[in-house]
Amino acid sequence: MKAAADWVREEIGALAAYHVAPAAGLVKLDAMENPYRLPERVAEELGRHLAGVAMNRYPDPQAPRLKARLREAMAIPDGLEMVLGNGSDEILQMIAVALARPDATMLSLEPSFAMYRISAVCAGMKYAAVDLAPDFALDLPATLAAIARLRPALTWIAYPNNPTGNLFPRESVLAIVEAAPGLVVVDEAYYPFSGGASLVSEVGRHPNLVLVRTVSKLGLAGLRLGLAVGPRDWLGEFDKVRLPYNVNVLSAAAAEFLLERREVLEDQARAIVRERERLESGLDTLAGVRRFPSAANFVLARFPDGPAAFEGLRARGILVRNFHGSHPLLDHCLRLTVGTPDENARLLAALAQAIG
Ligand SMILES: *Cc1c(COP(=O)(O)O)cnc(C)c1O
Repeated sequence: MKAAADWVREEIGALAAYHVAPAAGLVKLDAMENPYRLPERVAEELGRHLAGVAMNRYPDPQAPRLKARLREAMAIPDGLEMVLGNGSDEILQMIAVALARPDATMLSLEPSFAMYRISAVCAGMKYAAVDLAPDFALDLPATLAAIARLRPALTWIAYPNNPTGNLFPRESVLAIVEAAPGLVVVDEAYYPFSGGASLVSEVGRHPNLVLVRTVSKLGLAGLRLGLAVGPRDWLGEFDKVRLPYNVNVLSAAAAEFLLERREVLEDQARAIVRERERLESGLDTLAGVRRFPSAANFVLARFPDGPAAFEGLRARGILVRNFHGSHPLLDHCLRLTVGTPDENARLLAALAQAIG
């Protein structure tokens, strides 16, 4: 009885780790990273700034300056509480751990972000999902019926959704918040590309609504910094689950510094949105390809043979994300992260060859 399988929880044994494909030598368009580096001048100033950080000290767990910068950058009202995470992935985990009473259920919509289910399983919550419609629209009647039947402790909604890229109607999300007996978390990871669509103005007006944001998709994925904002009674509990020094001093200092210069990142986000439109038009010229509308920094498309298109791209040096086989609604779908103009041109040319 000294084997891991005899002791590790069965549901963990059955879980597959979050999949990250090897990308060495490939054009990396699989993970919704901002393709742009910092301008050299900003990078050098940042280096000097970080050299002054006291790495012998633990971080200030309340991070007041960083929270103030985030509030300002994301227009978060003063009355709302904020909790920081090592990426928003850690926020998902904190919330799930805090709500994992025996028999508590997490509800999500599918297809959506894989970490919702993984965090539920790891925390010991039950997990249930309502399928989106075949065009990835939110099925509000089915979702409200599932809420009435399952009485979920926690409901996750990505706004815009990943991997489909669409933005659900605001009124439908609010109807879910009204109907849900437990907490509803709206995950706005793709806010920088959503044309301003956000539920931030609703937070604080509903007792069970919490908003999650991240700096990852804005161009700082490597820092690992996410945040939750919402009513004090919920966030005070999540703060007890948070490990005391979860955001390290270098990430906090770098984020503070860069949020003060956020026009650099915001210009990059605008360039990505313009490129998304070019990528969408390019996909529309390819015969047999169905491209879905996106409010994010990626585009989901269905190909006559998705796995063959994926392999054809990889053989031509381009890595995207293959969703074929992960959910029936995603048959033959690939998710293409928007890259630089040059990368997108290469992607479109390689696709034309791979499926031609
Ligand atoms: C990428 C992504 C995140 C992860 O964000 P991190 O802050 O990098 O952990 C969260 N939610 C959704 C929907 C995402 O697609």
